Amino acid sequence: MVAAMGDNGANVAADQLASADQLAGAGLRMLAGTIVDNAGVTRTKVIPVARLRQATESGVGLSPVFAVMCADDGITESASYGGPAGDMRLVPDLTAAVLVDAATGLGWAPLNQFDQELRPMEICSRQVLARVTDFAAAAGIGYRMSFETEFTLFRPDGQGGWTFAHEGPGYSLRALIDAEAFVAELLAAMEEAGLGTELLHPEYTPGQMEVSVAPAAPVAAADRLVLTRLLIARTARRHGLRASFAPVIVPGDVGNGCHLHFSAESDGVPLFGGGGGRCGMTAKGEHLVAGLVAAVGEMAGLLAPSALSFTRLVPGHWSGAYACWGVENREAAVRFIEGTVTSRPGSANCELKCMDHAANPYLAAAAVIATTQDGLQRALPLPDPVGEAPDSIPEAERQRRGIFRLPPDLGTALDSMEKSPLLRSALGEGLLGAFVAVHRYELAAFAGRPEQEVAAALRWRY
Ligand code: GLU
Ligand code: MG
Repeated sequence: MVAAMGDNGANVAADQLASADQLAGAGLRMLAGTIVDNAGVTRTKVIPVARLRQATESGVGLSPVFAVMCADDGITESASYGGPAGDMRLVPDLTAAVLVDAATGLGWAPLNQFDQELRPMEICSRQVLARVTDFAAAAGIGYRMSFETEFTLFRPDGQGGWTFAHEGPGYSLRALIDAEAFVAELLAAMEEAGLGTELLHPEYTPGQMEVSVAPAAPVAAADRLVLTRLLIARTARRHGLRASFAPVIVPGDVGNGCHLHFSAESDGVPLFGGGGGRCGMTAKGEHLVAGLVAAVGEMAGLLAPSALSFTRLVPGHWSGAYACWGVENREAAVRFIEGTVTSRPGSANCELKCMDHAANPYLAAAAVIATTQDGLQRALPLPDPVGEAPDSIPEAERQRRGIFRLPPDLGTALDSMEKSPLLRSALGEGLLGAFVAVHRYELAAFAGRPEQEVAAALRWRY
């Protein structure tokens, strides 16, 4: 990266300043910079175009208390965060910025969190992911990732409330046609934003839709998820509709997942296909998957961290409630996808199914890299794949085969996450402490309330 002098004489990467000028030239008037916080909420600061160069040099301010801000906007505390004093500097990464709407001048960019000396903050999930990615690259492994976005689309019910924008049937043409104008504009906006949209379909439950985008390097993939959700929410609004990314809309029904697909390579050679191991995996690929399967129980609190997440994460909902892997098995937390005969080995990938939109995608991706790297370093053997629904296997046989249910509730999941040395070292003590504090607060705030009430309270938060 080439450094250049900014307007204040500060050292700013030349590509950031060039991007600022390019965005301004293209009609940008206001940049919505975003962070995803520990609650999974996307928070924003809007930077007017005239302040953009300055923001790339010294950032814009935000209280560090956002490390412990909760989904209901309550503020809790951890060992290191919670007081009213202090300031962070949020610096937009303009190389990832996108002009969302040339007519209104709205743009978007992810923000990195720094302290006032412009040193990276330990709670900056985006920089945590960059660091873990670099660590893996130094060990010779590169990752590509993509997050699938399931969401539920609502329309006004005519009485001041909201009802489903389609009534199904799941995956049907009927459901698509009910949402056609929204879909057309969304796909155009995603194309314009360079997201490389791969597929869209009406999903299983009323109002539910799904869209998937092209894989990218880990930080870019998490950025793409944030941008995808922005475009979905915004396009819905423009059509008088509303999109919810909450893990559960109707308790008991199938929920909204945010599945993380990833593949890995070493020296340009794919590790999940074209090898001599299980399902065409290479030996390294097997260790990577083994590391994830071994740690996915500890990761549940990170991947499905809301008071609603464990209402979704139950057997029979294709949300991957068991710690095991299987080929194309939608009930396994880790689903291995071999690709078709024409697309192997490049398209073979792993899908982490248990994640939902309350997770911070930067932290989820960092945990995937850390746990798979751990599997590789320890040369963990890959257990046998599971071909059936794990819930249909008798308990004794499950134990013998090493298949475990993910923690059944948020409290247990957070306990297990807190005790994980692997997550502690990957995410850092201060961040892990703040993350767990946020979700323990959420657990207490919603304790004893009927699931339906929790679903209603969290419907529009993510
Ligand atoms: N909606 C399901 C979930 O909660 C996933 C369905 C699918 O396999 O696409 O994760
Ligand atoms: Mg789906």
